[in-house]
Amino acid sequence: MPPKVACAFHTGEHITNFCMDKQCLLPLCPTCVKIHSLEHQMMQTIPRYEEINQLTVGVAEHLQRDAATIEADVGSVLNAQNALSCSKMRAIQSVDIFRREMQAEIEMFCEGVQQSITEVFR
Ligand SMILES: [Zn+2]
Ligand SMILES: [Zn+2]
Repeated sequence: MPPKVACAFHTGEHITNFCMDKQCLLPLCPTCVKIHSLEHQMMQTIPRYEEINQLTVGVAEHLQRDAATIEADVGSVLNAQNALSCSKMRAIQSVDIFRREMQAEIEMFCEGVQQSITEVFR
């Protein structure tokens, strides 16, 4: 059951409807609905009444859908995080491999230079 909300204008009355017209978006008690209908008549526009009960059900469904979407989003963020720490490990490993290859290269290069020096000054 939706919570009972007292009408701000009519004592003892509770909000039962909502005018969904974009210009209005008004919570209305039964007395408000009568007055509001006349206002729409005068403006030559049509009120778009929704019952609060219906609206609450709709909002609850909407929230449930949102919750499911958020849950899925959190899931994919966690997956992305896992993937990220995997690629972090891979990146660190490839830097390691690169370092070892570079060290070997430098070793060989220096070895070569020393070799030629010894040969020149033999
Ligand atoms: Zn209205
Ligand atoms: Zn009212």
